[in-house]
Amino acid sequence: MVFVKASPQSQLRLLELADLDADLVRLARRRQGLPEVAELARLEARASELKDAVVQIETELSDLSREQSRAERDVELVRTRIDKDRARLDAGQVSAARELASLQSEIESLHRRQGDLEEIVLELMERWETLVSRRDEVAAERESLGNQMESLAVQRDAAFADIDAHGAKASGQRDAVAADLPADVLKLYDQIRTTRGVGAAMLRAGRCEGCHLNMNTVDLNEIRAAAPDEVIRCEECRRILVRTAESGL
Ligand SMILES: [Zn+2]
Repeated sequence: MVFVKASPQSQLRLLELADLDADLVRLARRRQGLPEVAELARLEARASELKDAVVQIETELSDLSREQSRAERDVELVRTRIDKDRARLDAGQVSAARELASLQSEIESLHRRQGDLEEIVLELMERWETLVSRRDEVAAERESLGNQMESLAVQRDAAFADIDAHGAKASGQRDAVAADLPADVLKLYDQIRTTRGVGAAMLRAGRCEGCHLNMNTVDLNEIRAAAPDEVIRCEECRRILVRTAESGL
């Protein structure tokens, strides 16, 4: 096992480093957990639903438009037929009683057919109007959603800029502190930090500030006996344990 040594001053700087690393972790979490980001994701999902809804409504409208044309054409055909029959009737072209009765009955049935078709045309028009007003509603919601998203994005970007400015400052400070530390101590610290999140902790009043456990008497006696430049590690959490005037030794 390699014992790492570092001056008490260097060891104290490890605590500064740990504070800065904690700041950086907090900032990264804040960046990830920004409420604006979650809200924007929610609004984006809604925007995509609305986009699909518009496509569906447009498709239905175009189908309906075809159906309407067809129904109107059918009405027109029936009307033309009725006019023709009427003309024949009025011109007195049909005189045989049987033929006359048959023509009249045809006209009656054409009228019924015309009535049915006109009802279909009306129904289609109603469906058309419902769809158009639904399309207007969706368009209005999309517009207000777009405005909301725009202002949220502005807020999010401002929050990002603020976090990033703090992050850049903390990173700069971290680099400066790290540059002052012996390479082997820094390496050990970073290794522990990678696995445990926090690389170094203060020994305060006989207690490790990393895992918050109290040292037993044997451990404390060992720490008391250790040379000041010996890098000590917590028996529990294996973090670097930094001695200060508050350590209770
Ligand atoms: Zn500990």
